[in-house]
Amino acid sequence: MKINPKEQTLRHRHIPQRSCVACRESKNKRELIRLVCNAGVVEIDPKGKRASRGAYLCPIYECWETGLKGNRLEYALRAKLPPENRQALVEYGKSLPKREKLKNE
Ligand SMILES: [Zn+2]
Repeated sequence: MKINPKEQTLRHRHIPQRSCVACRESKNKRELIRLVCNAGVVEIDPKGKRASRGAYLCPIYECWETGLKGNRLEYALRAKLPPENRQALVEYGKSLPKREKLKNE
């Protein structure tokens, strides 16, 4: 674990930090979308409450593209992602805003 200087200022609030499997940025858990593997199917866990192993992605189109293109998500979940399952998640990612619109680079 690296020491994050931001954590000192956040310490008293104790907000759980998670990192996106695509861009590796650490964020407040509630700013990320949690994915879980449930009986061999990878699905979105909107409340983030399921007991299964979870992986996190930013609610940004590019992160879903990156996360779903390779085996990052599968690696993070220790699961095999069937093609139709991957496709459904890619479709979900297409509904998300693009990063350049948010950052306005
Ligand atoms: Zn990300």
